[in-house]
Amino acid sequence: MRSLIPPGVDPHGYEPTPQDVVAVAGARLIVVNGAGLESFIAKLLANAGADRPLVEASHGLVSRSAREGEVLEGGVIATGPTSEPDPHFWLDPVMAVRYVQNIRDALSRIDPAGEKIYGSNADAYIQQLRQLDTWIASRVAAIPPEKRALVTNHESLGYFADRYGFRIIGTVIPSVSTEATPTARQLARLVEALKAAGARAVFLEVGGSPQMARQVAQEAGIPVVTELYTHSLTDSSGPAPTYLDMMRYDVKTIVDALAGGSS
Ligand SMILES: [Zn+2]
Repeated sequence: MRSLIPPGVDPHGYEPTPQDVVAVAGARLIVVNGAGLESFIAKLLANAGADRPLVEASHGLVSRSAREGEVLEGGVIATGPTSEPDPHFWLDPVMAVRYVQNIRDALSRIDPAGEKIYGSNADAYIQQLRQLDTWIASRVAAIPPEKRALVTNHESLGYFADRYGFRIIGTVIPSVSTEATPTARQLARLVEALKAAGARAVFLEVGGSPQMARQVAQEAGIPVVTELYTHSLTDSSGPAPTYLDMMRYDVKTIVDALAGGSS
């Protein structure tokens, strides 16, 4: 197994290397998140020149729309659904169950002899995802509902927020991708939204721009909390070598920042 995107690298703006083309050309199965996350994939497949089997892990999941009150492109406050698909399904572990099922089915199609073992491995991992969901809900219960307000670099935690009762007050980059750049006016609107909502922290994501997050936090008079792993794992010496570790680490970071103190 080979990961195209190295640890710590933002997938939204990823530029494939010549080695990636070689790897894709020789792959038995290519697994992508889908829903528009890997904007580089069509060109990479064309460059690899071979028609390799590909599975979109998020296939079948329905994109969320921004909720009323979320700050959108142009500093507009959402009053209804938006059209840009949000690819960040994996940050809700119950949605990640679908990823496991899709990958299990794809592996079984290309390697029918292994179907049984793929099935039992998937069952075991789905069990761990359900335990993770229960654990997250129990940890988040330590945060009073009125303090469950999230501000991140870009719109990555929407599904997580929906599942565990958080509000997304705004994002430094007003997009489900990191490739947009906010205007001074958008940042000013965000600062106002944070003050109005009584947000307690701006969460910096690994790979996100610290300068803008710091500027917004400073103007709103709240701390920057570093840093959430949302799109990338660490090596084994870091806090997020696996998906399950990543989610536990992020939840601990969020709970530590929001649960304590006075409002
Ligand atoms: Zn993202």
